[in-house]
Amino acid sequence: MTATIRPQPGILDIALYQGGASEIDGHAAPLKLSSNENPFGASPAAVDAMGEALAQSHRYPSTDHGSLRAAIAEVHGLDADRIICGVGSDEILHFLCQAYAGPGTQVRYTEHGFAMYRISALAAGATPVEVPEAERRVDVDALIDGLGEDTRLVFIANPSNPAATMLTDAEIARLAEALPEQCLLVLDGAYAEFAEGYDGGAALVDARDNVVMTRTFSKAYGLGGLRVGWGYAPQHVIDTLNRIRGPFNLSGVALAGAEAAVKDRDWVAECIRVNADERARLIGGLRQLGIASDDSFANFVLARFADEAEADAANAHLLSEGIIVRAPKSYGLPECLRITVGRPEDNDRVLSAMTAFRGAE
Ligand code: PMP
Repeated sequence: MTATIRPQPGILDIALYQGGASEIDGHAAPLKLSSNENPFGASPAAVDAMGEALAQSHRYPSTDHGSLRAAIAEVHGLDADRIICGVGSDEILHFLCQAYAGPGTQVRYTEHGFAMYRISALAAGATPVEVPEAERRVDVDALIDGLGEDTRLVFIANPSNPAATMLTDAEIARLAEALPEQCLLVLDGAYAEFAEGYDGGAALVDARDNVVMTRTFSKAYGLGGLRVGWGYAPQHVIDTLNRIRGPFNLSGVALAGAEAAVKDRDWVAECIRVNADERARLIGGLRQLGIASDDSFANFVLARFADEAEADAANAHLLSEGIIVRAPKSYGLPECLRITVGRPEDNDRVLSAMTAFRGAE
């Protein structure tokens, strides 16, 4: 870098996002349980729709995503005019920081919060502020404490990642009510589908003018590789974000795949049902082995070990068995391993590997 050509303040403070690993030396086809993907993949209807859209790749895609927004709105009972689609929900988080935060402002999130909150805040030149959690759960009082004139955005993932814990509707409403008037609450609902009966915060968005919900096709819909997410917000926020959104941010293939996916209610419902059963079985099996975890409201389990050394040893054993999970050290949880809930046979492999690990300890 030369002395005169320098990026904007904050940018060089960004540590690159670490995605879940997908390879192990010596294992041709490892079992990847490190990125909270849907182990059953996408709806076959979505795959077909993407194939058809691929043949139209010489055409520019829709700029307003009208058809996808209408489909999302119908399924979720929302106002299509107040939906915005992005390249993953990551892009919506990024737009929010770009539009509402900047030098001299603060973006708040919690101790074990998702890595992109800090990255997007720094990219916008804002100051990221990390607030303690209470036993791996978002602490609403800690978030409220210290809110000030400079606070522009508060991010919480509900359910959270990597802890998979949840706040109640009442706790979230209390947080929204306590925000200073220039501040938006962003409810990141990347895992909302897996929390039975939870609307991702949609009703709160409708009831207030300072709450935004983000959602994704990457998790329950099995389309992490397609990169489609969306946000639901008050009209003034949508009108703002659309000004900075690239006109062709989503490809025709992405739009077609996501629309078919959201319309295939049976596929996603079955994936969610199996996840709930398997999640309970995985948590129960680990607990029988003395490996604790909080109740999970998502498609992964945060397994807690005695200390970092034991978590490292368990991870090494899983890798030796061809299983990749996530060691969430960069999230301040070095004694934990985050394990995505897989297919029944995948979870059997995890449980038998952990049983062998316990036997060898
Ligand atoms: N929020 C949370 C809490 C996540 O875990 C993720 C993905 N790991 C995202 C947002 C972003 O997902 P995507 O950009 O694929 O929609």
